[in-house]
Amino acid sequence: MKEWTDPFNSFNSLKGLLYRPWLEGILRGEFLPPIEASIDPAFLCNLDCQWCNSHYILKNGHHHEGEKIGENGNSKEKHANSRMMSRDHLFNLCNFLMDWGVQGYCFAGGGEPFIHRDLWEITRHIATRGFDTAFLTNGSMMDERDMDTVVRYSRWIGVSVDAGNRDSYARLKGVPPEVFDKTVENLKRMVELKKRMGTRIEISLKFLICPDNSGEIFDATRLAREIGVDYIHIRPAAYQNIIGNGNLKYQFPVSLIEDQIKKSFELETPDFQVFGVRHKFSPDMSIKRKFNHCLAPPLLINCGADGHVYLCVDHRGKRQFSLGTHYPDPENILTFWGGEKHQLMMNCVNLDKCPRCTFGIYNEIIEKTLLKDQMCRNFP
Ligand code: SF4
Repeated sequence: MKEWTDPFNSFNSLKGLLYRPWLEGILRGEFLPPIEASIDPAFLCNLDCQWCNSHYILKNGHHHEGEKIGENGNSKEKHANSRMMSRDHLFNLCNFLMDWGVQGYCFAGGGEPFIHRDLWEITRHIATRGFDTAFLTNGSMMDERDMDTVVRYSRWIGVSVDAGNRDSYARLKGVPPEVFDKTVENLKRMVELKKRMGTRIEISLKFLICPDNSGEIFDATRLAREIGVDYIHIRPAAYQNIIGNGNLKYQFPVSLIEDQIKKSFELETPDFQVFGVRHKFSPDMSIKRKFNHCLAPPLLINCGADGHVYLCVDHRGKRQFSLGTHYPDPENILTFWGGEKHQLMMNCVNLDKCPRCTFGIYNEIIEKTLLKDQMCRNFP
């Protein structure tokens, strides 16, 4: 079953091969500054998606709604429980990371990044300093200034829609159908701005498959093409993220999904692509793990709205995976990055207890290309 038409695309995990100096540094125990920062400016969301990878954060009562780190007096306890970074801290953090050498800045999970109203300003600032920005968002909270900034300055934006129509969207996300209309409207506006500005941003519509929306993949692909986005990105939702799921396992209707994706590929044009990412999953769409060690996390730093740095994006918000804090002084990161605790935490990861690993194929690449030399690397 095909995944894409051109392997040179952002979703091909073999791009991990580009990161050899970082991967070799990890094996030597000398971690380089990460390539990417995944920054969660807000631990808040306006939707309630069934499979949200931030359920742990959003449903967890240990945070205090509306408080910002950096704006709540000096109480350490309050800072540690914040759900939103202050504007000042967001700038301090990003300035430190840029000085340190981090190249890409993805504003994403832990909630909806555009709930943070200073995002447009930090995006411009990062672009002015010559670094890349990207966004994973539900798209419904963006205003004209956000969209103008994103289209003008960013490398890519992925907007989660996950449904083929407004009623299904409303049901899956626990919101009125008008939120779907607004999201589609915003996507159209960004496509229009991109055409007008002639910028290089890649705009995508994202579709996470669950049993309830499996029959809507084709409709969503048709919608994406009508809107005029660059591509649709289709992959299974991770039921492991659902809090209190009592070992619920999604039973994906695999043949229906295969059929929907096959039909979706027929909608491709030179300007519209379909990415049905399969290499990260088993045939039944459950977790596929072909590695034995957790080695790749230092390619990325995940900075939470609560002032903590987490081992990887899949464990964001879980205090047992906190490496240390970036608040109040981001330079504190230098005291623990690549240190004994960081290395020990990676060594002690119980893979059986991990959710789906975003960096699974990078873990595999380190083991197979560098440790075992399965590609005979000295013979190009
Ligand atoms: S999900 Fe687990 S294996 Fe993957 S990077 Fe995170 S801690 Fe490591």
